[in-house]
Amino acid sequence: MSDRVWIFDTTLRDGEQSPGYSMNLDEKLKMAEMLDQMGVDIIEAGFPAASRGDFEAVNKVAQQAKNAIIAGLCRALPKDIDAVIEAIKPARRRRIHSFLSTSPLHMKYKLQVEPERVLEMVKESVSYARQHCEDVEWSAEDATRSDHDFLCRAVEIAIKAGATTINIPDTVGYSVPEEYGRIISMLRNRVPNIDLAVLSTHCHNDLGLAVANSLAGIAAGARQIECTINGIGERAGNASMEEVVMSFRTRQDLLPFETAIKSELIMPASKLLSQITGFSVQPNKAIVGANAFAHESGIHQDGMLKNAATYEIMTPESVGRDRSDLVLGKHSGRNAFRTRLVALGLALSDDDLNAAFERFKDFADRKKKVSDDDLILIATSKDGLPEEHIRFVSLGVKSGSFGPQEAELELEIDGKRTKAKAGGKGPVDACFKAMRVLVPHDNAVLSNYELKALTSGSDAKGEVNIRLAELGHTYNGVGVDADVIVASCRAYIDALNRLLAGRHAVPTKKAN
Ligand SMILES: [Zn+2]
Repeated sequence: MSDRVWIFDTTLRDGEQSPGYSMNLDEKLKMAEMLDQMGVDIIEAGFPAASRGDFEAVNKVAQQAKNAIIAGLCRALPKDIDAVIEAIKPARRRRIHSFLSTSPLHMKYKLQVEPERVLEMVKESVSYARQHCEDVEWSAEDATRSDHDFLCRAVEIAIKAGATTINIPDTVGYSVPEEYGRIISMLRNRVPNIDLAVLSTHCHNDLGLAVANSLAGIAAGARQIECTINGIGERAGNASMEEVVMSFRTRQDLLPFETAIKSELIMPASKLLSQITGFSVQPNKAIVGANAFAHESGIHQDGMLKNAATYEIMTPESVGRDRSDLVLGKHSGRNAFRTRLVALGLALSDDDLNAAFERFKDFADRKKKVSDDDLILIATSKDGLPEEHIRFVSLGVKSGSFGPQEAELELEIDGKRTKAKAGGKGPVDACFKAMRVLVPHDNAVLSNYELKALTSGSDAKGEVNIRLAELGHTYNGVGVDADVIVASCRAYIDALNRLLAGRHAVPTKKAN
């Protein structure tokens, strides 16, 4: 059996249909381009019968794709299948992906169709699809809760009707690795024509087992994994592509499988998706989380500097990250500080380094995290901490359901106090409008806003994370306050200070 595993990415279909993750046409095209470039074998671009917009997106992705097979999803209905045929027509390589439920629960309550009729529908839909496309995938929805004898019959019928890939979804994320592997083995042992199709996994993460189940499926003989970037997808998400790919890459001794994914594009793809959807991954997310390669404790940092293998099982470069982020904070030592500066291209003399280290300790005391931008300023500005052109002075807001919401904001800009008033859709919007009056920054757009409580209880402090984007550069800001509107202003000011510092550091480029 071949050790090649096909990567079927469904970020644009299963991922996109989860709450808050919808993408517009341009965004889908951008994401599809990245997936194609990174070596995804099959891109599931959408569900053409679902809406006009979905149809158009699949159609445009099909036109754009250079290498990947473009798949569209459909129910077992002629009009659904027709929509896929039409939508994927421009693609160089095409796949129709049709699905039907096979579990007693789904057949009885969702489809309200007798099992024998379900088998007929499998035959009819797959044969119809196969008349129009050489490459047909059939999915047994809710396969892991289906009766085994019935599942075997359905799979055999689908292959006889022309299916070239058989997908075994753990639709509700209910299976565990041992069981999922057994289902794949059972199909390989019992379905007489199984060798004519590739078996595929599609595992959901409701119990946090999506990747583990997928790997168990591969070990048992499946050769396609359906997955998504950052593991997005219905409910708790799908198997995450980066975790699957790096598991193979890192444990070739136990998982001797190959994919065509260029792993150096994992981080750029993850970032692109976060940027498009506005959802960042949690810091401890495997492979792509902010902390996935971070080491803050002194003992770990020391070990890392002597030999990275002491605490790292794969290199950050292999997944497209610049370097291990030794998080510099107030616990960091001089060695870690100097190493990071050298990595940033700043080699200081011993005296300068000592002075900069003092400034760094002072700064780290005030802020919980010291970013690379901060470090550059700390190392290069001799007169103390990074410049803060803008400081928060006071804020008054009128909010509530009566409206209009207004903000009166006072800032200190380069030592001078100044005030402005503005209205907006809600108090945060009003504040940010007042900010634009006081500090014009027309080219910058707010590309991310996240609010979270730092502790529990109604008196918890709120932390706001903000991202401003200007001319291809992004500037993040953090603000903490018991009043979330004030925290929002502080975060915005933090980002704006970085943006202003950035304007000094890099010559302004024309936007395109
Ligand atoms: Zn799914």
